[in-house]
Amino acid sequence: MATTLTGTSIIGSSRGSKTAETFRGFDPTTGNEIEPAFHSAAFEEVDAAASLAEEARLEYGNLVCKERAKFLRAIADNVEALGDALIERASLETSLPNARFVGERARTCGQLRIFADLLDEGSWVDARIDHAIPDREPIPKPDVRSMLRPIGPAAVFCASNFPLAYSVAGGDTASALAAGCPVIVNAHTAHPGTAELVGLAVSKAVKECEMPEGIFSLLFSSGYEIGQALVRHPAIKAVGFTGSRKGGRALMDIAAARPEPIPVYAEMSSVNPTFILPNAMKERGDAIVAGLHASVTGGVGQFCTKPGLVFVPGESDTFISNFRSQIAATNPAPLLTGGIQKTYNTANSHRAGEVTNTIANEETNLHGFSVNPSVFETTAIEFLNTPDLNEEIFGPTTLLIRSNHHEELLKIALSLEGQLTASVHGTEDDLREYADLIKILETKVGRLILNGFSTGVEVCPSMVHGGPYPATSDGRSTAVGTRAIRRFSRFVCYQNFPQNALPEELRDDNALNIWRIVDGEFKR
Ligand code: NAP
Repeated sequence: MATTLTGTSIIGSSRGSKTAETFRGFDPTTGNEIEPAFHSAAFEEVDAAASLAEEARLEYGNLVCKERAKFLRAIADNVEALGDALIERASLETSLPNARFVGERARTCGQLRIFADLLDEGSWVDARIDHAIPDREPIPKPDVRSMLRPIGPAAVFCASNFPLAYSVAGGDTASALAAGCPVIVNAHTAHPGTAELVGLAVSKAVKECEMPEGIFSLLFSSGYEIGQALVRHPAIKAVGFTGSRKGGRALMDIAAARPEPIPVYAEMSSVNPTFILPNAMKERGDAIVAGLHASVTGGVGQFCTKPGLVFVPGESDTFISNFRSQIAATNPAPLLTGGIQKTYNTANSHRAGEVTNTIANEETNLHGFSVNPSVFETTAIEFLNTPDLNEEIFGPTTLLIRSNHHEELLKIALSLEGQLTASVHGTEDDLREYADLIKILETKVGRLILNGFSTGVEVCPSMVHGGPYPATSDGRSTAVGTRAIRRFSRFVCYQNFPQNALPEELRDDNALNIWRIVDGEFKR
């Protein structure tokens, strides 16, 4: 039976009140509002959700990992059980095709299950044991053991561009719940119906698995105040965010100004520089044009990993002319929100005034939040003299930069801000000649890609979806892959504890059979 949306927040096992302040989702194709109305949470409801999370913290954080794994799998099952209703609502609220959400749902549920597997295996806690040496001279050595423990209740902000995989039951929620942290989600205004459906699936799993009710709440709000109140709440101990640099920075500043500052894991802005080196351009320029076009326009250019800067050799006329023909032949398409559309159009106009060569579609009769794809072109010297050109433009556009000299490319690479990714297209000869470029890029990014494109992030244990500021607020972390769990955990050390008072992971018998470092040796 289809779920009826009520438009109210979820506060533990209860529903929020029907406050007078409401908002609706939009159909980006038409720009029209979609029913039902969603009620902004009241400040008291932020407090209620945070207090429930605080109450649930100890019980949930001390559950054995296998219980939390069962819970994550139940969430995945319940999200899948939402069936077509979820796919259709996500598609309606974003104007992205159903097929995109079939894939995104698989990724979302896959992420939940990868974390469940991680918990079942158990070694993620990074257990270390140093046995006591009572007769050590000149002073005895104590028994010292440590492992990762949950950081405490987390606030998670949904991403506009991943209504499933980086929203209510997305990567941040999955990794925080896996770590043993209660989660309070701040829904994104762009896809409230999708958020409510997934929120109900999580709540159902809470009940089915007899978890403490406070481990999950979902707050709707039309403005920023509720999300900010959540970050300020003393019960909240960490924040996960995906969105704009402005939004992420605002939350970082609020978190740092609290009497008790807390970590914010914000994934913000990245232009994902892409370098096409001379021999690769000569050998396979045509194939690179096709791949680049797909990467710039996929998801209407609304991926945080979209290549926003593309460096090509000076003599790339054919490549540029082919790429520009492909962009000119690409239909306008709707962006996710009216705000993103406005920002895109303003940034495009601004850029057109900054660079000497502009190629943009000029279709004028656009509906809803639709925009024309565009491509800009400039020289390395102009790029180096215009810092604004480093700014992310979210949407189907990119900037091609012609560079004639190796030294120029190195100078550009050194000037770049922190990025999620950098891609290099090169032959073996190119790689030998530009080894210094790659060494510089390594200092700037979370992921280096060779002969491929930055969009498309594999969810696997070794993935790094992070990067130095402003790509993220903490370049030591990743938002994708199993290491994301570390953002919501912290090391705790137990000194001179008897066996039965230690967490199971740290006891000598290693009944869980996990990998540990014992007296300096890595073993099971
Ligand atoms: P956003 O404006 O930063 O919003 C993200 C979420 O945070 C929304 O729920 C928003 O609330 C909330 N928020 C924003 N600023 C806030 C503040 N000062 N205090 C409290 N809450 C705040 O991002 P967006 O709407 O998703 O997209 C806009 C821009 O973000 C894009 O143009 C793009 O540049 C960037 N973006 C980057 C990535 C990435 O991964 N790098 C991904 C998505 C978007 P509301 O729901 O009320 O707006």
